[in-house]
Amino acid sequence: MRIDILTLFPDMFESAFSASIIGRARQNGLLDIRLWDIRLFATDRHKTADDKPYGGGPGMVMKIEPLAACLDAVLSEEPPLALPVIVTSPQGRLLHDALVREWAGYERLVLVCGHYEGIDERLHQLYNTMEISIGDYVLTGGELPAMVIVDAVSRFLPGVLGGEESALGDCFSDGLLKHPQYSRPPLFRGLAVPSVLLSGHHEEIRLWRRRQALLRTRERRPDLLAKAALTEEDLRLLAGL
Ligand code: SAM
Repeated sequence: MRIDILTLFPDMFESAFSASIIGRARQNGLLDIRLWDIRLFATDRHKTADDKPYGGGPGMVMKIEPLAACLDAVLSEEPPLALPVIVTSPQGRLLHDALVREWAGYERLVLVCGHYEGIDERLHQLYNTMEISIGDYVLTGGELPAMVIVDAVSRFLPGVLGGEESALGDCFSDGLLKHPQYSRPPLFRGLAVPSVLLSGHHEEIRLWRRRQALLRTRERRPDLLAKAALTEEDLRLLAGL
């Protein structure tokens, strides 16, 4: 997958995209991330990419000309973009698992990072955009949200996670939170790993995990449980909790 990111601060992405699973995916050619410095598309002597808001008020607004010039250059490249341009914004639709999985099926994503007080509104009139928020709080810029999007989408690209790191059993994959996990040692500071996990009895382990997932989801995210497609077995396990 190719992901183009338009930003005023390309340096912010260096270490996040070089390490661990994302770094490996890039090295293996599964993920082609292109960073575009919007400021380079400003035509004035000072490479101005922001200006005061019309009507007054605090802070600066990202100017439309360099951003539009940058976006034109991005969109002129192959492969053609089949999705709207994703613009990070606290006013956007909330990012969630289904969206991330859907995007992972496309050849290409384009992400725009806002900064300062935000972006000149005409961006949305000129281009087919989709505003995406990563939560109901305000960050200083769209760079961290863009990293979140890249990370979440990449996990669903074939080959990005190794076999032992499959995304299939993760939270939300079946509409539930995941069961608790343990590793060695079996006893730490008086706390023992649940004995069923050491039993080697696969069916009992499966049932324990499913019960724990249901319990956790009921306690922490009853909204998810209400929407989940539960099986007969799930309903029996829930009734026994
Ligand atoms: N004045 C804007 C408002 O109140 O809606 C906030 C601008 S914010 C300080 C600067 C940029 O950070 C935004 O343009 C957006 O790109 C990004 N940003 C901030 N919070 C975000 C969030 N929760 N989700 C996605 N992007 C966010």
